[in-house]
Amino acid sequence: MSNHRRILIVGGGHVGLYAALRLQRKLHGEIRRGEVALTLIDPQSYMTYQPFLPEAAAGNVEPRHVVVPLRRVLHRVRILNGAVNRIDHARHRLQYESPAGEENEIGYDVLVYCPGSVTRLFPIPGLAECGIGFKSVEEAISLRNHVLGQLDVADSTQDPEARRRALNFVFVGAGFSGVEALAELEDMARDACRYYPTIEPSDMRWTLIEATDRILPEVGPEMGRWALERLRERGIDVRLKTTLKSAENKHLVLSDGTEFDADTLVWTAGVRPHPLNQETDLPLDDKGRVKTTPYLTVEGLDDAFAAGDTAAVPDLTKPGEFTAPNAQHAVRQAHRLADNVAAQLRRRSMRVYRHAYAGSVASLGLHDGVANVYGLKVKGLPAWVMHRGYHLMRVPSFNRKTRVVADWTLQFFFRREAVSLGALQHPRRAFEYAAHPPRKERGQIPPQGQQPQDQTSSQGRQPQDQKAQGQKAQDQKAQGQKAQDQKAQGQKAQDQQAGRPAGVKR
Ligand SMILES: Cc1cc2nc3c(=O)[nH]c(=O)nc-3n(C[C@H](O)[C@H](O)[C@H](O)COP(=O)(O)OP(=O)(O)OC[C@H]3O[C@@H](n4cnc5c(N)ncnc54)[C@H](O)[C@@H]3O)c2cc1C
Repeated sequence: MSNHRRILIVGGGHVGLYAALRLQRKLHGEIRRGEVALTLIDPQSYMTYQPFLPEAAAGNVEPRHVVVPLRRVLHRVRILNGAVNRIDHARHRLQYESPAGEENEIGYDVLVYCPGSVTRLFPIPGLAECGIGFKSVEEAISLRNHVLGQLDVADSTQDPEARRRALNFVFVGAGFSGVEALAELEDMARDACRYYPTIEPSDMRWTLIEATDRILPEVGPEMGRWALERLRERGIDVRLKTTLKSAENKHLVLSDGTEFDADTLVWTAGVRPHPLNQETDLPLDDKGRVKTTPYLTVEGLDDAFAAGDTAAVPDLTKPGEFTAPNAQHAVRQAHRLADNVAAQLRRRSMRVYRHAYAGSVASLGLHDGVANVYGLKVKGLPAWVMHRGYHLMRVPSFNRKTRVVADWTLQFFFRREAVSLGALQHPRRAFEYAAHPPRKERGQIPPQGQQPQDQTSSQGRQPQDQKAQGQKAQDQKAQGQKAQDQKAQGQKAQDQQAGRPAGVKR
């Protein structure tokens, strides 16, 4: 190898990180001698291990432990933060927007293209305004805070309608991410109800909407049916062959004619190839995926490679089909891709990617799961143990594995935290409140996360406070009674809405 070769990896997710890890190891000598330079570009400085997002949302694993800091593990790779917005492969140049907002351009010799996928949306009125996806660690954590925040709302409001809306949780799409996210969050919320005197688990209404006639296709029809029964046994309202028609102003209308208000709408109805594909001169198929050969080179090019969710990789175990967008393929493709990049640089022959889908494991909440791996069908606790074991083996780096095990171990001794840190999304609110104190002293609501006493004690207003607190205690007592009544009323109304006889637990 005579020339200096610049290898540029677009996307530091499952494919990008694993390919970079392997390349920095395989090309160690070439990098040291200055013959090869590896660069990875991603808007984020960490890789997200997405299969752990439901566990992070449920509070079983710390959010920071489901991400892998790229700079920490990729010692011989130059990491650039930025969102690539155009690739001109004919000129071997790409443009990206840096975090500072600059439009930059860089050149490369070999392209490794793996920006993954984005959530697939449909033009449903209101969906874009009030839905949330479940693909990033930010979404998972925000959802956790939101669900726990809704329990706070329901426990504190005096309006039965607001309480009903707060306790309505709707998920659309019953694949991996939808089922796991719903099952984990429902499990967490049920557990958290113990801290809310006015909320019984049966007061919450969890709904899963699925357009087809089955859930969890990844584990096969038999295990999918079992998982469906399991969710229904837990009181989760799973509606098959049903779609969301409208979500305007958080008023949901379903194709089966049901209508109700819900403050929580989680959209997990599939993914589509990254829109960046359209801004490149790489060949695309009719679904917008980058066409690749079985060697993971981009069709018609020998200096561009692609893999993962964004690519159409031929599935050699099922002629005529393409590999499904999942981590199982992404990680294996990353290894094959890295080996082929190294082989090509060293003028050796490349090998094809071939992997027969091994099946899947899915968690249905703490101590419950379903698995179908190489035809071995497992359910309940053993499947949940398999799920944890499998993903522990898969999550990158010894450091992350240890942290995840530590999180799980702590749970044996302490209950998981059930506190909403939703105020994190408005970190400046308390500071602004301090900078511009309200003129009126009473009736002003302090910012989230700030105690009313903090404001008053230093200003010598104790007597007034005591009086106010006495009134507050009375109000709370009355409110507690009212909430108990609402709880009974709320259940009755939910039963009526769901067409059940009043008083029958779901
Ligand atoms: C909640 C959830 C649970 C899942 N569970 C499982 C499971 O149990 N088993 C399984 O097999 N699969 C699972 N999957 C699917 C699996 O995570 C994906 O198939 C896999 O992550 C795809 O890898 P990838 O490298 O193609 O994309 P990703 O891992 O998504 O990586 C794409 C990377 O590209 C970066 N990027 C995006 N835009 C740009 C840009 N403009 N410029 C530069 N970089 C960019 C992103 O920041 C990201 O780092 C799950 C997915 C989700 C969302």
